[in-house]
Amino acid sequence: MAVNILHPTGSRIGSGFFTIGKAWALALCLALGCSTTHAQQLAISNDDKEFTEMIGKLYTASNEELLEALQQETDDKKLLRYYKENYKYIFASINKQIQNGSVFNIPVVVSALKQTLANIGNQHPDAPKGLQVLLLRSDMPNALTVGDKFVYVNIGLYAHMDNDAQIAAVLCHEVAHLMLRHTMQVFQYHYKKNQDQKEAAKQLREVSTGRSDRAFELVRGYIYQGLKLSRTHELEADSAGYILYRKLGYPPAEYTRVLAMLEKFEDTKPDGLKTESYKRFFNLPLQPFNDKWLQGEDFSAYNYNAYKPRLDKDSVESHPKSKERTAYINKLFPETADAKTATPTAAFTNMKTLAQNHWLPNLYINEYYGLFVYYLLVQLQASPDNKQYKEWLGKGFEKIYEARKAYQLNKYVDVIAPKDQTKSYMEFLNFIWNLKPEELEKIKNYYNAKG
Ligand SMILES: [Zn+2]
Repeated sequence: MAVNILHPTGSRIGSGFFTIGKAWALALCLALGCSTTHAQQLAISNDDKEFTEMIGKLYTASNEELLEALQQETDDKKLLRYYKENYKYIFASINKQIQNGSVFNIPVVVSALKQTLANIGNQHPDAPKGLQVLLLRSDMPNALTVGDKFVYVNIGLYAHMDNDAQIAAVLCHEVAHLMLRHTMQVFQYHYKKNQDQKEAAKQLREVSTGRSDRAFELVRGYIYQGLKLSRTHELEADSAGYILYRKLGYPPAEYTRVLAMLEKFEDTKPDGLKTESYKRFFNLPLQPFNDKWLQGEDFSAYNYNAYKPRLDKDSVESHPKSKERTAYINKLFPETADAKTATPTAAFTNMKTLAQNHWLPNLYINEYYGLFVYYLLVQLQASPDNKQYKEWLGKGFEKIYEARKAYQLNKYVDVIAPKDQTKSYMEFLNFIWNLKPEELEKIKNYYNAKG
């Protein structure tokens, strides 16, 4: 798997509902007009020791149970060891997320997810019962299962879905993966192919990062490692998942509509920060704005015709994978081609707002400091007097300043990549990379005092 810190999901791999191509599609929140007014109480901190300790214990106990139960799977000692090695890797990866606070708790969201999982469990005798939820601080709309009793759900799922039906659709797909024992099938496949410990050892070293979305994709990538099996499993989980879903009484079409949501998400790139805003926010009493900060390469030389605007309606058509999945489900279950949509409940809307409000804090907690500052500035354009945003801007610049001093800026701020980025985002990157440490320090000090 390619290692690229700011684009952890660069390779298309998957056992979750979605295979996400680009992490920085985090921008969808913005495109959807995330509520910002309710964000006031949110802290950019992931420090909830009590919860971390509780969930850590629960997770460890569950892992031990699963490792024990693996004995029943085979009499082949070597194969058993192989299963255990694989699970130990996965558990280590997720455990790291628990310990650093990337697994967190929004009680109302977790209990809604658990309730839906319980409803799904009641629909079929073979459906797993008593499933637990681990909620991750990732903004990517995704969920994951690895064959244990947890469904790993990114908070971004709530931020990006439209209604409870779509959440249920994703969960049904995940439960179907569990029912079909896909993780074990993949392990067996690897074992037969002798694609074993070397790769595992290599990937284990990559678990050191604190970013929840990265660990999430790593685990998925680890399981599937670019297997063709992944495609088969996705289609199987889609169809088996639909059979669970249709018993829940939601409009059939919402099941495939979820796929279109993914496409929107994937095609969304950081955009919206205007050139004139730099002067507005960085012309400071102790440091007048310097036009040179915005000087850089002539981006107009690049061919922007090649760049697809975000939320392009045609983009759904250009992604065969989603199209294929939708066509497959429509063919098997013609009622899914229906036009009827679900109406979001008040409870759903509330949870969606809660999830959206975690978007900016999560960028900070997941150490995407460049994106964090970029989107803060976009938000400040709209509400220039928001005190919390100014305070966060100070904290963002503090991290960027520290990174710059330690020669580690590239770990937290993207480098310019004309093919993949919008003009606005490239201008921003140019600005950040042009600032000298002492200039960053003055910006940091100014906004830290403002907040
Ligand atoms: Zn899947």
